[in-house]
Amino acid sequence: MKIIDILSDKKPHISLEIFPPKTDAAIDSVLNVTKEMAKLSPSFVSVTYGAGGGTSKNTVRIVSHLQNDLHVTPLAHLTCVSSTPDEVKEVVKSLKENGIENILALRGDIPKDAQYPLPNHYRYASELISQIKDLGDFCIGAACYPEGHTECVHKADDIKNLKHKVECGVSFLTTQMFFDNAIFYNFLYRVRDVGITVPVLPGIMPVTNGSQIKRICELSGTVLPSRFRAIADHFGDTPKAMEQAGIAYATEQIIDLFANGINHIHIYTMNKPEVASAIFKNLSEIL
Ligand code: FAD
Repeated sequence: MKIIDILSDKKPHISLEIFPPKTDAAIDSVLNVTKEMAKLSPSFVSVTYGAGGGTSKNTVRIVSHLQNDLHVTPLAHLTCVSSTPDEVKEVVKSLKENGIENILALRGDIPKDAQYPLPNHYRYASELISQIKDLGDFCIGAACYPEGHTECVHKADDIKNLKHKVECGVSFLTTQMFFDNAIFYNFLYRVRDVGITVPVLPGIMPVTNGSQIKRICELSGTVLPSRFRAIADHFGDTPKAMEQAGIAYATEQIIDLFANGINHIHIYTMNKPEVASAIFKNLSEIL
């Protein structure tokens, strides 16, 4: 099923995320995680793609398992910064052969040791989106950044670039994680103001590791509100307490988003079905 058709439903929905293993040996444990996630009946499950493209066959394998064995709609991430158009064409071909209809088209982070852009490589996700459009009838999603992408100095330019990206053939957007819903509401206002009309799915990260999240936020430019920083400082060294607090914080963000008319929320579940399951339990009367 195409994700744009799922999003036309006005009832509350939640989608989940899985990342593929770095080695083939770990594929069975990730397929098991996939099975546990599928039991929650998420609206779709997205599967990330290694920035260098090295784990691409595992992404294809997991989305194929979701689609053909577990009958859950998958969203295959696809990055392009380290690939040539011919390499991308091969991955898209194998997604098509496996019946995959949804692709999240991303540039990927620029490799630190590479001359950028490499000859005959992509500069922006918009170029990948135009290529995928020509390769088949896919529902294409893309990334967006409520706090601005780290490479873009001016938020207005980032939104202008986002508008161009959407016009290349994007049906929906998923946001980078954020920990203050006001940032998302403000972003939504700004994207609608420039005429971007596609659905924007807020990406919520249940934080289960206090020290890791501070590092991730520094790298991605995500603001940690003082309310959340206090939680991470206080519970960060006690894994089970941090997990419980992180699940509660994410649940609160999700309830606020639903209450403000956002019908579809994406959770960055990071291969933790137990975290996804706890959030679904917290929302049992809402979903
Ligand atoms: P783009 O849309 O190309 O934007 C990158 C930068 O270029 C931005 O600063 C933008 O403003 C600027 N820009 C865009 N177009 C133009 C233009 N025409 N002229 C000038 N400037 C321009 N990474 C992975 O490796 N694997 C994943 O599976 C993955 N999944 C993700 C899922 C989500 C929901 C999100 C939010 C991010 C994900 N990422 C993933 C990270 C992503 O690859 C990085 O954030 C990357 O740096 C940017 O990718 P993009 O597709 O947003 O790039």
